[in-house]
Amino acid sequence: MMNTKITSYIKDLSSIENLCRVCLTESKTMYKLDSQIEEQLEENISNIYHVLYRVTCREIISDDRYPSNICPMCLGLLNISYKFKLQFEESHKTLTEYFGEYSTKKQEQESVFLYRA
Ligand SMILES: [Zn+2]
Repeated sequence: MMNTKITSYIKDLSSIENLCRVCLTESKTMYKLDSQIEEQLEENISNIYHVLYRVTCREIISDDRYPSNICPMCLGLLNISYKFKLQFEESHKTLTEYFGEYSTKKQEQESVFLYRA
């Protein structure tokens, strides 16, 4: 589905930059990826590019040929995903501090189990 969509847009390369970087659709309202985020929850995470990188772990290179916008729906999902990740990391840190070494060893064992599965 996405391939068909992008193929039709390739005929008009100039329109690709108007698509959402995440879902590759057009929306009346778009936010620039370099826009500052409203609520800064971490140091060095101040714009949408940073948040996208934090959630996807994929380096987002600012390239003129790539869409530099995000639609409201994807921005909402990104915001939820980011907060979910932060919540997990914060709780994990608390648990690790509380249980210390034992938790780390148990975690490694479970990781090995998961990789073998
Ligand atoms: Zn989108």
